[in-house]
Amino acid sequence: MAKVGEPTKKVKKDVLASTQEVIHQALSNLGYKEDVYELLKEPMRMLSVRIPIKLDNGEVKVFTGFRSQHNDSVGPTKGGVRFHPEVSENEVKALSIWMSLKCGIVDVPYGGGKGGIICDPRTMSFPELERLSRGYVRAISQLVGPTKDIPAPDVFTNSQIMAWMMDEYSRIREFDSPGFITGKPLVLGGSHGRETATAMGVTICIEEAAKKKQLDLDGTKVIIQGFGNAGGFLAKILHERGANIVGISDAYGALYDEAGLDIEYLLENRDSFGTVTTLFKQTITNKELLERECDILVPAAISNQITEENASKIKARIVVEAANGPTTLEATEILSKRGILLVPDVLASSGGVTVSYFEWVQNNLGYYWSEEEVAGKLRDKMVKAFNNVIETAERHHVDTRLAAYMVGVRKMAEASRFRGWV
Ligand code: GLU
Repeated sequence: MAKVGEPTKKVKKDVLASTQEVIHQALSNLGYKEDVYELLKEPMRMLSVRIPIKLDNGEVKVFTGFRSQHNDSVGPTKGGVRFHPEVSENEVKALSIWMSLKCGIVDVPYGGGKGGIICDPRTMSFPELERLSRGYVRAISQLVGPTKDIPAPDVFTNSQIMAWMMDEYSRIREFDSPGFITGKPLVLGGSHGRETATAMGVTICIEEAAKKKQLDLDGTKVIIQGFGNAGGFLAKILHERGANIVGISDAYGALYDEAGLDIEYLLENRDSFGTVTTLFKQTITNKELLERECDILVPAAISNQITEENASKIKARIVVEAANGPTTLEATEILSKRGILLVPDVLASSGGVTVSYFEWVQNNLGYYWSEEEVAGKLRDKMVKAFNNVIETAERHHVDTRLAAYMVGVRKMAEASRFRGWV
């Protein structure tokens, strides 16, 4: 799907290296010694599995999957499972470290985990996807569980896949285990607000960032790169709040109209993978879209989109990273020198895991909250996290990405120290 700007294997390797670089800097700014970095620079556990699946045509195909557990000093590890042809071991490792940071930033009692299967769900049937989901759970079942490591949805996985995985795990353990996984359908112990949680979290960050830059959201020009789960919901919510969505994109191209796009039409006509620009003759490239006039730019698609080549051409006053790793470290420096307020991915996209935590708490309690309760609790966590990161940046005179890493890594470093690991 993600053809435009698809990161190469080499770039993906850099994702882990640049994460380690910022973790190192964050720990050193907080006064931690090198041994803490040695512990946290790599996941504590990385499982690679082979999953044989019978395809509908009778042939057997063996898929490769991963589960990475970064650090469990604070609590069980937590994070999504992605189904994508470009999944790699290094990417899953980096993503699990980011999950640790997100959990630290919104202050939920987890370490980071992440999983992935190298596959293309767009070319697979429903029964094949079910067999793959169940096969993955069988392959990793010894290492995961409601008090060990709790999976969730991620790129190209959804509540149906979570339901199959929960059912498989419950069968293996021989008792119903809703707390094994989050992002489930409501009838299986899912939480209100989980589906829209990432987009809501991004929206709250946008509102707070706009306040900081004295921008009124009403009429503010917004460009959203990506029209999938995060980008699509985000466009809907921001449009309803009066923002003027002037640009959107999918993997095949982008649409831009300074007068504002017809968001209702686009949402109605996109497919389940967020593709909609193929319906239009007049499109621009994703690359061009990022440089167009707007107040707020939200990269909500794939990594490495804002680089040192285009960072000086970004017109937005605020950049909110709804995707994982859309801005390189070099570009972060350029944006921050230009006075553009950057809300980094580990902060902006932490709404998903926050409501996952609420879902897990509700599963453990067996008592379920209303939509309003969940929304209120999410807002409290996000606003607190946003202010904490901004204050840390101001106090330490560092960019917001480094500040977010400092906030995110601190609790884990402390917990590891108290446990006597370092
Ligand atoms: N996959 C989402 C993320 O990357 C959510 C993880 C979760 O809910 O555990 O933040």
